[in-house]
Amino acid sequence: LGDTIGANLDRTAARVGDHEALVECATGRRFTYPQLVAEVDACALGLAALGVRKGDRVGIWAPNCAEWVFVQYGTAKLGAILVNINPAYRTHELAFVLEQAGISVLISAPEFKTSDYRAMVGEVRDDCPDLTTTIFLGDPAWDALLAAGRAGDPGTLPDDLDPDDPINIQYTSGTTGFPKGATLTHHNLLNNGFFVGEGCGYTEADRVCIPVPYYHCFGMGMGNLGATSHGATMVIPAPGFDPAATLRAVQDERCTSLYGVPTMFIAELGLPDFASYDLSSLRTGIMAGSPCPVEVMKRVVSEMGMTEVTICYGMTETSPVSTQTSADDSLDRRTATVGRVHPHLEIKIVDPTTGQVVPRGETGEFCTRGYSVMRGYWNEPAKTAEVLDPARWMHTGDLATMDDEGYVNIVGRIKDMVIRGGENVYPREVEEFLYTHPDVVDAQVIGVPDAKYGEELMAWVRLRPDASPLTAESLRAYCTGKLAHFKIPRYVKIVESFPMTVTGKIRKVEMRETAVTELGLEAEAA
Ligand code: ATP
Ligand code: MG
Repeated sequence: LGDTIGANLDRTAARVGDHEALVECATGRRFTYPQLVAEVDACALGLAALGVRKGDRVGIWAPNCAEWVFVQYGTAKLGAILVNINPAYRTHELAFVLEQAGISVLISAPEFKTSDYRAMVGEVRDDCPDLTTTIFLGDPAWDALLAAGRAGDPGTLPDDLDPDDPINIQYTSGTTGFPKGATLTHHNLLNNGFFVGEGCGYTEADRVCIPVPYYHCFGMGMGNLGATSHGATMVIPAPGFDPAATLRAVQDERCTSLYGVPTMFIAELGLPDFASYDLSSLRTGIMAGSPCPVEVMKRVVSEMGMTEVTICYGMTETSPVSTQTSADDSLDRRTATVGRVHPHLEIKIVDPTTGQVVPRGETGEFCTRGYSVMRGYWNEPAKTAEVLDPARWMHTGDLATMDDEGYVNIVGRIKDMVIRGGENVYPREVEEFLYTHPDVVDAQVIGVPDAKYGEELMAWVRLRPDASPLTAESLRAYCTGKLAHFKIPRYVKIVESFPMTVTGKIRKVEMRETAVTELGLEAEAA
């Protein structure tokens, strides 16, 4: 699509007329496409009245809500650069993002869960000289912004926007370290949303349930832009992830599509009253963001009725999707691979040290090039150069294989690979095996330092509530004879939960730190 995001929304609204665009379940608010456009224009004109111009950075710090959508599309209509701020941030990270991105206007929720955003903004404001205006949603200042915008003339919105202008800075999830600000354009985001929507077969009849956070591409890109570029309806089940509210939204709003990272689907399937929800409207959906366990995919198909569910693979830096399975693929393919390359993109699997393409079937680093690749990390030329080579191939840091028909399998992150006694172990493979244990609901495997082997494997396991106690010995016995000896975890830790990012990704860095302390391995790590 050659449009800007704002022009595309207007075009959809003109096409679908009074069709429903957005439902916010927590409040019952509903917006048709023309109503959504009116709110978006009011937001854009209100921001313009505050002095926001093309290229200015506008921060948004709020859980999923209708206003998030107004600000997302409103800033795009101005050509301003929206900066998504992670709802889980605390003052240190907030101050970092405000300053790193040079945010001049911040739109913030007053609070979320146990976080008092108002107090936190107050604490850091004086240290952020670029920040001139902060508006809290629900305050009179927010109503005044919209009122000023409603009084304005949409004909005065800028008409010189270029689809290649940057309009978004999205910080990566911070799974492997400190987040980096991927800088994305209309063209990057709109097209990726459109092709993801095509991959799910969206039409105006689709109603997309979006429990994944808007601050991440999965929510604002694959969710919102995926829906609006096809005239479908966006359904926000709750401000933060709530498995029961999500299934209630699917049932009450007759959603046809549901998104989530694997941990979200695991939580939904694990609800004690799971069987009482009517999920018969579900047809498709997306599981993505981290390795999608085969067992979970199978249950999503058979127990949630998502017969056309797709798996996507991607990253913030690529807007985000690079590969997607198709509803035509066999269930095996849809569970064991992340599908094939998305339209209009190139991919290759290379040896990370030599940069040479590896033979089909062999493991190497996944690289991609094309319209979806970010401009770079905001104000971080050195970090950008580490991942984007001069030919504009994005080096993802993910290990993958590709078969003869082009199906990609993600093996794991280069950073997570464990080298035990000279053998490369991909935690993903061990995790998939542990999932086959009847008492295991979730398993995560890391490498911990070891004097003899360099690294040893450690499994963290979540058990079914009614499971009998599982010892390290019994789990190892379960693996013996089925996994090569060097892949069998030496240590096992039974946990209730894993350290997670707000996108629901498991922070293995933190698991390793905890394990090193608990196992008393500091000396070896040093
Ligand atoms: P950071 O870059 O800050 O460490 P992050 O990489 O988790 O965090 P994101 O951009 O949100 O930030 O996530 C992209 C990563 O998620 C990919 O590089 C990949 O490792 C993982 N991922 C995404 N989809 C899948 C999938 N379907 N299967 C396996 N891994 C996936
Ligand atoms: Mg990353």
